[in-house]
Amino acid sequence: MPPLSSRIARTELAATFAMAARARALKAAGHDVISLSLGEPDFPTPEHVIEAAYAAARRGETKYPPLSGTAALKDAVREKYRRDQHLDVPVENILVTNGGKQAIFNIVMAVIDEGAGDEVIIPAPAWAGYEQTVNFAGGRAVFAPCRAAQNFILQPGALEAAITGRTKLLILNYPSNPTGAAITAPDLEKLAAVLRRHPDIWVLSDDIYEKLLFDGHEYVTLAAVAPDLADRVVTLTGVSKTYAMTGWRIGFIAGPADIMKAAALVQATATSGVSTIGQAAALAALTGPQDFLGARAAAYQSRRDIVLAALGAIPDMRCHRPDGAFYVFPDISAFLGLATPAGRSLLTDTDFAAALLEEAHVAVVQGSAFAAPGFIRLSTATGEPALREACRRMGRFCEGLK
Ligand code: PLP
Repeated sequence: MPPLSSRIARTELAATFAMAARARALKAAGHDVISLSLGEPDFPTPEHVIEAAYAAARRGETKYPPLSGTAALKDAVREKYRRDQHLDVPVENILVTNGGKQAIFNIVMAVIDEGAGDEVIIPAPAWAGYEQTVNFAGGRAVFAPCRAAQNFILQPGALEAAITGRTKLLILNYPSNPTGAAITAPDLEKLAAVLRRHPDIWVLSDDIYEKLLFDGHEYVTLAAVAPDLADRVVTLTGVSKTYAMTGWRIGFIAGPADIMKAAALVQATATSGVSTIGQAAALAALTGPQDFLGARAAAYQSRRDIVLAALGAIPDMRCHRPDGAFYVFPDISAFLGLATPAGRSLLTDTDFAAALLEEAHVAVVQGSAFAAPGFIRLSTATGEPALREACRRMGRFCEGLK
């Protein structure tokens, strides 16, 4: 076979996909598997959104889209950023992308030079997609450790310590995948103070879980808290998690003109823009009723509570309390070194997740996939009966370890 690029050799499929594939294989073989491995709302896309997509197709909105997004959607995004992000962004500085994921890809490709030692700071635990994209672009991911005792919030000292002369980009993600941690304005202010001392660093604020906040936590974002930094902050949102539209593949970024032009160029090179039907759907989502979002967040909060209570009853299982998103991220390090009744020894969180799947038929993702060994991630985007049963199985699994 002729050789493939070195870019491919350094890129791996995220472990979330691998675990979901193994869970599907066990299910197909007739096992009753409960999958808590994928970060995808279990609610359906709202009916009015589907109708809007259908109507757009019927109207003939089936031609190539404008590269950066349809005018109607970009206007709606501008209004959304004003309303939700408290940011006033001109439409020229807004880009509609194929999901949040392409937004990240565009920004990383726009700022990272291949093989030049360019570094991207990623607070860890972190969603695996960031490291994967940085590797693909030929940059270097530098993880800034965040501790459960500090609510998994990036501390100014950890940020300062991670910065070098090669740092090009910092990625922030609150509410966080996988920890569910949400940041406050004072904590953002502290990070802003560090960033002011380092004017050559771009920031990508991935706010894809902005609407999923619990216990009255308020959403805040860096560009609004520190407007003096807004000329180097790109703010990412989208419809995937908020409106249960993961399959429609629509995300948004807004930021300063130069980087947005570069991001649009990356996107034009790859995809010539975003599905017109998907954009019509996203427009309906942004401009339609928003009142059900509160009920959705409340549903996720009650699921979090169910899982926290159940995990809390498992001896030696420690778990931080997520403020948002739909993940719970327990520390399972107390079980490492033990073995299952079937004789599997659990040396790592990956062993733990694999054994939990094979022997208790619960699919989760190992913390190492999020640069956080010793943890596992459970997605709570599943109905309550399945969540309760999954926790019961986990409890029995842990009790059986010797
Ligand atoms: N950012 C984070 C933190 C995510 O968890 C995800 C999806 O899991 C994405 C971005 C990608 O979002 P999208 O599905 O819109 O591409």
